[in-house]
Amino acid sequence: MKKILVLSTGGTIEMLKKDGGLTISSSSSMDTSSIDALSGVDVSVRKFLSLPSPHITPEIMADIARELRNIEISREFHGVVVTHGTDTLEETAFVADIHLEGTLPVVFTAAMRSGSELGVDGPRNIRSAVRVACTETRNLGVTVVLNDEIHAAGRVTKTCTSNVSSFDSPGYGPLGFVDDDRVIYHRLPIWRMNLPPGPLVLEKKVGLVRTAAGFGHDVIDFLREAGYLGVIVEAFGRGNVHPDTANAIERAINSGVTVIITSRCYEGRVLGVYAYPGGGVDLINRGVLSAGDMAGNKIRLFLMACLGAGLKNNQIRSMLSNL
Ligand code: ASP
Repeated sequence: MKKILVLSTGGTIEMLKKDGGLTISSSSSMDTSSIDALSGVDVSVRKFLSLPSPHITPEIMADIARELRNIEISREFHGVVVTHGTDTLEETAFVADIHLEGTLPVVFTAAMRSGSELGVDGPRNIRSAVRVACTETRNLGVTVVLNDEIHAAGRVTKTCTSNVSSFDSPGYGPLGFVDDDRVIYHRLPIWRMNLPPGPLVLEKKVGLVRTAAGFGHDVIDFLREAGYLGVIVEAFGRGNVHPDTANAIERAINSGVTVIITSRCYEGRVLGVYAYPGGGVDLINRGVLSAGDMAGNKIRLFLMACLGAGLKNNQIRSMLSNL
């Protein structure tokens, strides 16, 4: 008999329409009836939080990740399903992924439609996630299951504001699928980012700046002046910026700010290819670190954890060297 814990944290999966819009009320609870009939599984449900996911801050993400780590150490369960709002799910799942050792199957799930809507997806997503938590034996790291697709936490993102097929891993695709008869894996992640063992502390003063034509340098200067310790810059294309932005980046680096470049493109790596002022080669010469093909919101959390652990730039650089 597999022992699975469903840890609820809030989101649309716990919401109903009331007073003109969807809300979590103190009395609301998830519809877990879909798991009642699963054979060979002993499922318990525990409420950890009840928040819409835009209210979930990095501190709360760290609380969830630490709770999962405690469950991993306790070996009390064969797997855990975390229910979460879809808006920041990819970030909490990633924080858990980099913190956990990976010996406990942890599956995040959610709902795109509330219990008040026709074609509600939450109950089915919970059941599919429980089935993945029961069958996952390949040390995949934290996974995300919605719409019967299994995604790696490091790659998945919410791509559509409303559709039940919103979650996708651009450029990579799902790891597998949940079918009526069994769970099928098509590919395994050959690596995942991980933090050195130790307490999880997320440094708050890490910003994310998405470049746009003629925009970026003012915000980078503002963050430096506001005492930020790290800045992620979502640069253009292969990892290039306007010379004004490159100068602001250099000012930040000279003040001790760790600056990591990623791309605002959905797919592909940043690389020092262009040598013009603001090009990738120029930025690397000015001291930026490069985050390969990682999404800006995830590499920001990774940098928050690295700075929270007191890691220095050369250690962070070497941790990013596989990307
Ligand atoms: N805004 C909601 C949340 O993230 C959306 C959802 O749960 O799907 O909590």
